[in-house]
Amino acid sequence: MSIKKEENGSMRLRWPIEDIVAFAKRYAITHGLLCLIPDNLDQATIVPFSLYPSPYSYSHFKFIWSIQTAYNRLYNRISLDDEILEKALSPVIPLDDFVERLWKLHRNCKRRQPIQLDIYRNDYMLDTKVDKMRQIEFNTISSAFAGLTGIVADLHKAILHYGIENCHVRELKLDEKYEKSSTIDLILPNEPLKKSAEAMIKAFELYNNENACILFVIVPNERNVCDQNALIDEIQKLKPNIHFHLKTFEQLTNELLYDEKTFNIYLKSSYDEIAIVYYRAGYIPDHYINEKCWLIREYIEQSRAIKCPTIRSQLAGCKIVQAYLTNENIIEKYINNENLSKNIRSTFASMFAFDNNQTREKYINLLRQNPNDYVLKPNREGGGNNKYDDEILKLIENKENHLNSYIAMEKILPPKCTTCLIKPNGKHLLHVECINEIGIYGTMVTNVDTNEEYINDVIGYLVRTKTTDTNEGGVATGYSVLDCLDVSQNNNELSKIFSQEL
Ligand code: ADP
Ligand code: MG
Repeated sequence: MSIKKEENGSMRLRWPIEDIVAFAKRYAITHGLLCLIPDNLDQATIVPFSLYPSPYSYSHFKFIWSIQTAYNRLYNRISLDDEILEKALSPVIPLDDFVERLWKLHRNCKRRQPIQLDIYRNDYMLDTKVDKMRQIEFNTISSAFAGLTGIVADLHKAILHYGIENCHVRELKLDEKYEKSSTIDLILPNEPLKKSAEAMIKAFELYNNENACILFVIVPNERNVCDQNALIDEIQKLKPNIHFHLKTFEQLTNELLYDEKTFNIYLKSSYDEIAIVYYRAGYIPDHYINEKCWLIREYIEQSRAIKCPTIRSQLAGCKIVQAYLTNENIIEKYINNENLSKNIRSTFASMFAFDNNQTREKYINLLRQNPNDYVLKPNREGGGNNKYDDEILKLIENKENHLNSYIAMEKILPPKCTTCLIKPNGKHLLHVECINEIGIYGTMVTNVDTNEEYINDVIGYLVRTKTTDTNEGGVATGYSVLDCLDVSQNNNELSKIFSQEL
């Protein structure tokens, strides 16, 4: 961050840091950077956030931004190719009931809706070992925080204006040519919400029944309500007449009507026809508490409603598929531009599975000798599942046969920055060493029968920042905080200012 200095003045905080933290919390509360408290769903608290943006390389950011539409198309095509899905998933289907169940559902459900709507989030870290952006995972279901991440960019602008003398914050438009400036601050704008809403509206229009509604499938006791409602509000700003319903799978077991003649689905209470089913649940087995919940998923999948995502698209986001795509000449089949496939390939970290008897022993030895260089990941979403360091050794020693449910991924070593993490109940961590994970949101609306692409867009970003001693990610799980980027390439200038004693 570069701050315009007074000729004779030094850059400094205008107020004590406690004052700035108080300002930040008030801003967060006023602007809906909130989630509900786990044991009291009538009360909200702040979603953890950083006090100021993290320094980040603009060229690396720009790079992952520039390849997102190609990534969107790649995953869209993978999701439509049963052969590659089956090949990629086959090692885990016999081992993982959840993946097996999704796969069988996908195979048994007839497709009755050619329109596919996807809201993706492609997560990366910058790997200092090679100075390249490396993909952590590609999320195809329930890509959260598009409703909140824009608030953080605005919050940071407000904090800098409030807290630092002579601070002129400028937004850098992404299509602007970036020239290093020594006098102006640069923060990236971030508006994934508006474009997510536009994609949903486009899909809604293609469904072609303006009296139909949009259904959000949510988890019981959902806490991330501001994020979800922000999307509803944004859609209603543009299309005030669209109705919304938010239901859990269990509620739907009583309330969903599936018409076997027309393949339409309705909600019993209102008899609203459902145009779009948007899943903010359904990505882990616990979300299906009984067989009836699975039946609901089946009805929806074979209905005429547009699903975000379809089961095939959800399956394309499995980590075993991500690992499979790193094999030679796979992505090249789907991307006919050599440069683009090279760029996408450059984001792949080394990944391997343990299903091949010829390589299994070699890979186990590799892990034994270098457990700190790898992460073991099961095919699960939602955080808290990965194994690191000694846990990897323990798994090899005690439960070697469980290895088949995991894929190994080279550990990424992101650059460190110092920042202040603001958490609920005053549990702030001031001036701590952190790392960043960047997610790029993409939207697609396609007709999979005609290959028409109505929308293929890169729409915004998410920054999650966590202390260097935390392995897992996840804001909802309490590991990370929401953040935003300062691309002026004046490394850690802001952290120096925020750590100044007054
Ligand atoms: P999920 O979010 O589905 O649980 P992820 O693949 O995103 O699974 O892993 C969870 C977290 O673990 C990430 O947010 C990241 O912080 C960390 N992580 C995952 N893969 C790596 C890796 N290869 N190197 C370093 N950290 C990783
Ligand atoms: Mg993740």
